Amino acid sequence: MYPRFTSMADPKGDEQVSGERILVVDDSKEVRDFLAGTVLLTEGYIVDVAEDGKNGLKAALEVAPDLIITDQAMPGMTGLELVEHLQKSGLNVPTILMTAEGSEEISVRALRAGVVDYFIKPFDPEKLLSSVHNILTGNARQIDESSPEDLLKGLSNLNAVQLVTILHQIQEPVLVIDPNGKVTLCNLAARSLMNKAEPGEAVVGHSLLDITNNRSLLDIFQYVDGQLVATQEIHLDDGRVLDAHITEIDDIGRVIVMQDITHLQNQARLRNDLVMTISHDLRSPLTTILGCIELIGKIGDLNTKQKLLSDQIRDAVQRTTDLISELLEHHKLETGIEQPREPVLLWQLVRGAAETLAGKADMKKQHLLLDLLEDDLRVMGTPSRLQHVFSNLIDNAIKYTPDGGEISVKIRSEGSEAVCTVSDTGIGIPLDDQPRIFERFYRTSKAADDYEGTGLGLSIVKTIVEQHEGRIWVDSQPNEGTTFTVVLPIRTPDNGSKAERKRSR
Ligand code: ADP
Repeated sequence: MYPRFTSMADPKGDEQVSGERILVVDDSKEVRDFLAGTVLLTEGYIVDVAEDGKNGLKAALEVAPDLIITDQAMPGMTGLELVEHLQKSGLNVPTILMTAEGSEEISVRALRAGVVDYFIKPFDPEKLLSSVHNILTGNARQIDESSPEDLLKGLSNLNAVQLVTILHQIQEPVLVIDPNGKVTLCNLAARSLMNKAEPGEAVVGHSLLDITNNRSLLDIFQYVDGQLVATQEIHLDDGRVLDAHITEIDDIGRVIVMQDITHLQNQARLRNDLVMTISHDLRSPLTTILGCIELIGKIGDLNTKQKLLSDQIRDAVQRTTDLISELLEHHKLETGIEQPREPVLLWQLVRGAAETLAGKADMKKQHLLLDLLEDDLRVMGTPSRLQHVFSNLIDNAIKYTPDGGEISVKIRSEGSEAVCTVSDTGIGIPLDDQPRIFERFYRTSKAADDYEGTGLGLSIVKTIVEQHEGRIWVDSQPNEGTTFTVVLPIRTPDNGSKAERKRSR
């Protein structure tokens, strides 16, 4: 039995005035006595008390209270730990947490643990009582983070000061502008963007034009074709770059949340410089090496050994050139350098790719079969990039199929999609490797041991296919063969493809 405070009107505790049972957990006797004896008892609640977290947990499990009011900092077990233990035991009791000092970390953890209200000592007992009343009458209940309504209800249990404290502590600038263009909220991080406002001068209630002359921040409120710009980069005088996301909310106005992306931009610039250096500074010496090898052959006859060595140099230069080209292609795709798109006949792309590789297949005495009967299938895309997809798949099929094998390429339509398959009777891909072959630089051990390659081709192919709103997958059996399937949206003359509609918006 836990110490119980009973109402003066009912000294034995038999008659329950309100019927609700509250457990107060606090290591300070003074607080326990005050809350239980003075604040709660006079309202007719049945009140149990416990002097620390561990006893609070035992009491809660035993008496299953309707509400727990617990201190946070207690020896042995904190208030939050008590709530978390109770949750693990399957007992979800609404809890009010009292702390000596507010911290963003505790309030976030408290919300997560299902704490419904949070008071910083000293607090107004009237406010605590009103919160107790709200919780027990069902006006507030535990927060289910997955439900926006519950999240909002939970937030409404935080008082305004706590909410503003959280907003102010957030590192990302947050700004709210009402429908009349006046600032209604500007957290500390956003305050530093208001370069026309004197330090300490209030910005709430002012129009943005009065407090900042940052052009890109002001531009964010422009409507383009009747649509508000949803995201925009904001460049600050000190060189920082922010990525601003703007959301329009009925009756509130526009909410802008900004994220510092300066480091990302710097990284992108460094990567860009690196790729440009590789492509330019490495290609030049490679050209010289290749030129010299050709000249050596012309200066005089090479003996067999010299010829072998110069062939090896030529091959190595070729492999390095391929790697550079693929790295560059990757870079172009990753940086999203847009290339013009147009309706393209699929069979033309596939045939173009197959024709350039027919010589290679011939050299390995392979049969390259094309089934392109559906010759009216159009897709919307960049012809050179799409052709790169089929060239790469056919090239791999030839490379990884032994002499005399068969490569077949088919196109057909399925509903609104064009389906293209590239199959071979080659070495196949072990099941464990199949999910990874589209990763950059990934090669199966057999391929790495016996075949030349960079491991970049399929990752480029996948990126291109996805940029065209398509899908790609592989089916393969080791030592039997491999089939790659590429699916792309068909572009019909009257409606265009989904990709095209999206791009034209
Ligand atoms: P690369 O061929 O330059 O190694 P890719 O990215 O084109 O790089 O392919 C990645 C890996 O997928 C290859 O190294 C190989 O292990 C496997 N692979 C791709 N196509 C085939 C195929 N048709 N048959 C067998 N393995 C393949």
